Amino acid sequence: MPQENNLMQKIVSLCKRKGFVYASSEIYGGLAGIYDFGPRGVELLNNLKNLWWKNTVREQENIYGLDGAILMHPKAWEASGHVAGFTDPLVDCKDCKSRIRPDKLEGWKLQKDNLTGDWKVLEQGSLECPLCGGELLPEIRYFNTLMETSLGVIEGEKTKAYLKGESCQNIYLDYKNIVETMSPKLPFGIAQIGKAFRNEITLGKFLFKTREFEQWDIEYFVRPSEAKKAYEAWKQTRWDWYTSKVKLSEKNLRWRQHGKDELIFYATDAWDIDYHYPWGWDELEGIHHRGNYDLTQQGKFSGIDLSMHDEEKDQKVTPYIIETSGGLGRTFFSLLLDSYREEEIKGRDRIYLSLPPYLAPVQIAILPLVRTDQQLVRTARKIYEELKRKFVVEYDEQGTVGRRYRRQDEIGTPFCITVDSQTLEDETVTIRERDSMKQERIKIDNLIAELAPHLELP
Ligand code: ATP
Repeated sequence: MPQENNLMQKIVSLCKRKGFVYASSEIYGGLAGIYDFGPRGVELLNNLKNLWWKNTVREQENIYGLDGAILMHPKAWEASGHVAGFTDPLVDCKDCKSRIRPDKLEGWKLQKDNLTGDWKVLEQGSLECPLCGGELLPEIRYFNTLMETSLGVIEGEKTKAYLKGESCQNIYLDYKNIVETMSPKLPFGIAQIGKAFRNEITLGKFLFKTREFEQWDIEYFVRPSEAKKAYEAWKQTRWDWYTSKVKLSEKNLRWRQHGKDELIFYATDAWDIDYHYPWGWDELEGIHHRGNYDLTQQGKFSGIDLSMHDEEKDQKVTPYIIETSGGLGRTFFSLLLDSYREEEIKGRDRIYLSLPPYLAPVQIAILPLVRTDQQLVRTARKIYEELKRKFVVEYDEQGTVGRRYRRQDEIGTPFCITVDSQTLEDETVTIRERDSMKQERIKIDNLIAELAPHLELP
């Protein structure tokens, strides 16, 4: 395996070179903390979303899907506490003028007042700038990370609005609609994949921290007496999902509980699933036991009662909320870090991504051995036309077959099908499996039955 410190560079370079991720607006010099997903990236991202949606919504009888708008009534962000309290602290470097988050520096301990957004320094660490070695000014400034926009057409009459600071917030606003239209019984959940926007101060960790990103969230509504049990069950479910479905390696994952000084004042408990990134452990997903604060706050600010009738107990209840909130960009990045492999074979380097076959951006590559042989090409294209209706398939006839294998390895294609002269005689092709590089001859008619179990989402 490559050294951890250059693994990051290797992934960033592979992402650009192979069409996974581009810096947004690159021809204008880029936009800090904003990225575009290229042709390979969007396939991988969609596969992750589809996997999450299938396992979380479609396979769960009591979880309802939602796709809420990015813009919401500005009052909702006052109710949630974001307008006052969604702040990050920063210190300035006297020398390079960079803005640095002191709470992320070693030796510093800060505490946030979530109601006012103020930060108190509990312990001051080193004042050496991590970027240039210069001097950091000790004065702490706060900075609200909500992104503002405006609604309306006439200057002077525009209304301030916010881009979603966290994707889940409109789940609370649509909760009443879902209770009334879907008649759910407690416990039930509402799940959503959506965009979020934050004016982050410290960037530079590729997809880990961006200013525009996607989150997958579940808000699970439970009777207060059942919240603790549901919380433990959700912690287990989410851990199992990352290890058995996304197949992140367990040695790169750990649990971290929020300390008392970090826990938001209304929350009962909060744990993060951390991933071991090249710079150390950092959050992949948060699982929070939030009490009923979100519903009571939105109820108070909107003037609408957000309690519901619990049929089984025949009483009114404002459910408690168990939240799981993870980032797609972070999962995408973790998966690439986790699956990146380098090896030397007969004196030549091979790079491959050992992605779960059902998540790979290209699932099958069809390679005619000789591109000038019209009969081979015709047969290969026929196989391509048939398989592409079921799987993500690429037809590749450029260069030697060895080169083509290497190209597919680097983007994680689990299966390469080679069409050669024997194909024309006995209607068989070879399938090469990415990780083992083993090749097997199989009948063209058996291809779908053979490959489908590996490529369908579990
Ligand atoms: P951190 O402090 O690690 O930046 P957070 O505690 O602010 O994260 P949450 O508000 O709990 O994050 O958001 C839930 C999830 O959304 C995180 O676990 C992470 O996967 C993702 N996320 C949050 N902020 C970003 C960001 N700026 N860029 C990419 N993903 C993010």
